[in-house]
Amino acid sequence: MALVTVVGAGPSGLRCAELLASEGFEILVLEEHASVGKPVQCTGLVSISGLNGLGLELNEDDFAVNKIYGAKIFSPHGTVLEVRKKKPVALVIDRMKFDRLLYKKTVGAGAKVRLSSKLIDLRNGNLFLETKGHGELVKSKIVVGADGPNSVVRHIMHPNIRGEKFIHALQYRMQGSFDPKNVELHFGKFAKGFFAWVVPESDSIARIGLGTKLGDNVESMMNIFLKEKGIEARVLSKSSALIPVSEPFKGLVSENNLLLGDAAFQTKATTGGGLVMGLAAAKACAGTIANHLKHHTSLNDYTKNLASVNRELALHWKIYSHLHSMGEDKMDNMFAKAKKAGLEQFLEEHGDMDRPSKFVRKMLLKPRLWGLAPTALKFALG
Ligand SMILES: Cc1cc2nc3c(=O)[nH]c(=O)nc-3n(C[C@H](O)[C@H](O)[C@H](O)COP(=O)(O)OP(=O)(O)OC[C@H]3O[C@@H](n4cnc5c(N)ncnc54)[C@H](O)[C@@H]3O)c2cc1C
Repeated sequence: MALVTVVGAGPSGLRCAELLASEGFEILVLEEHASVGKPVQCTGLVSISGLNGLGLELNEDDFAVNKIYGAKIFSPHGTVLEVRKKKPVALVIDRMKFDRLLYKKTVGAGAKVRLSSKLIDLRNGNLFLETKGHGELVKSKIVVGADGPNSVVRHIMHPNIRGEKFIHALQYRMQGSFDPKNVELHFGKFAKGFFAWVVPESDSIARIGLGTKLGDNVESMMNIFLKEKGIEARVLSKSSALIPVSEPFKGLVSENNLLLGDAAFQTKATTGGGLVMGLAAAKACAGTIANHLKHHTSLNDYTKNLASVNRELALHWKIYSHLHSMGEDKMDNMFAKAKKAGLEQFLEEHGDMDRPSKFVRKMLLKPRLWGLAPTALKFALG
């Protein structure tokens, strides 16, 4: 019988397992795929400040592909907000390498990782697995569901979660001519409820994708986007996956089961980015379990221990809901107003990809931005 079983060897699950194993607990990680880090279904854009704040003790040269200095954000009808910093603000990473580095650390800390082991069902600490085509039963005192957006653990804990909590994303790796220092974000009809992106690996390769409501034909939306923006590039590879987009999820713990990472909707609703938030949540999750095992505290403390992560997730959700509740014309007006008010310079100085709480309140202190005050106030005061 394992003490703690983590389902899913993605970044969140691996980090949680590493932290628990390094405290001497017996940890089992289950991964349905035959190797860690594949398939890659991610753009791999992470803020440098967010990454540095996680204490991962990894060398960015081992997994970074490119450095990003700024962003161009296009409104539905073409108003552009440009934010450029002097120093790099984000990395484009090789997700396969990143995940494998985390895997190495997890195994090094003493966790046991079983590959090709898929969780099928979970009842009272009994995990029913399919391992290389064979059925198997494993018992565990505590189970962490870090099994991604289609989480089996979450489905067992909450069978009635609706499809509108997810965005369908499609991404192409493309060869063409790109600005290697800046990412592009595009709002428009081709990406209903989300946006499209161009994230350069270099001046000749970019990760180009979009997210749209479940049920839309994402491939035809991508064709519309590429045509509308005049992007002429050769498709090198394609990937498609779900992005959880929701307010902070409340049902994170039931009995001895906890949810983590994408399985727990710990993604920024504004961008779908889940790496920094999932890894930060992994620390809270591991800390909660360690305290429970050592001091018999409640596993329900997880929510309390996640307060700082949840504060940011809630703000991302508010910004997302506000932005996507307005029609295209209103969004265009807002972009024009923001540009005129000097939002670009403000974000250059104060912007933070992960923690909007850091700059939303500051917006209220800038008289030039008072034109945006009702919106900022709504976000700042919650
Ligand atoms: C197109 C796209 C672009 C993205 N771009 C970014 C970005 O630029 N920046 C960013 O921060 N985030 C981005 N994200 C989100 C990011 O990829 C996720 O937030 C992150 O991978 C979540 O990590 P995780 O460990 O929670 O889950 P995952 O990485 O999904 O890992 C879950 C693991 O569980 C395994 N698993 C699933 N079910 C089972 C089962 N039943 N039994 C055993 N194992 C199982 C899976 O194989 C997988 O290895 C993007 C997502 C998509 C879809």
